[in-house]
Amino acid sequence: MKNSEIDWVAAYIGLGSNLANPAEQIKSARTAITQIAGVKELAFSSLYHSLPMGPKDQPDYVNAVMCVATDLPPMDLLRCLQRIENDQGRIRKAERWGARTLDLDVLIYGDQLIELPDLSVPHPGLAERAFVLYPLYEIAPHIRVPGKGDIADLLAQCSMNGLKRLD
Ligand code: AMP
Repeated sequence: MKNSEIDWVAAYIGLGSNLANPAEQIKSARTAITQIAGVKELAFSSLYHSLPMGPKDQPDYVNAVMCVATDLPPMDLLRCLQRIENDQGRIRKAERWGARTLDLDVLIYGDQLIELPDLSVPHPGLAERAFVLYPLYEIAPHIRVPGKGDIADLLAQCSMNGLKRLD
C-alpha cells in the first residue's frame, strides 16, 4: 500500500543466492523488483561471488546490491521483497544462514534508523559483510550509512573474505 505522505526515498537492497543457478536467480529478482509498483531502479552493482557465512556445507553465493527509488513505506517494501523470495522458491528453514534460492534484504532506507519486530534498518550485518559493502561501494562510493558511518571507512575495516567480482 502506498502512503501519499511519503516522498520518494533512495533505498538499497541486498540480493544473494546459492541454489538453482544463483546468477539467474539474482537477474530474475532484479526484474521482479523493478516491476513492484512504487519502485524504480536507480543502480545495480556487478555480480559478486562470495563464500558462505555460517554452515560451510553449502554452495558459494552470488551477491549484488541494487539502489531503488521508492515511495513504499519500509515494511511494505520488505513484504514485496519477501513475496519475490517466495515466488523464486525460497523455503524458510529454522537453520540460520542456510542455503537459499534467494535472499533479499533492505540494507538502507533513506536516512532512517528502523527498529521494528520484523525489520531492522540499516541491516544489522551490513558493516561486517564484504558481499554487501563492496557492491554497495561500487554503486554508492560516497554514501554515509545511517548510524554506522562512511562506506569507505566501513570498507577499510572489512576484509574481502574471498569475495570476487564476476562481471
Ligand atoms: P533472512 O533469513 O536473512 O532472510 O532473514 C529474514 C528475517 O529477517 C525476516 O523475518 C525479516 O522480517 C527479518 N529482517 C529484519 N531486518 C531485515 C532487513 N533489513 N531486511 C530483510 N529482512 C529483515
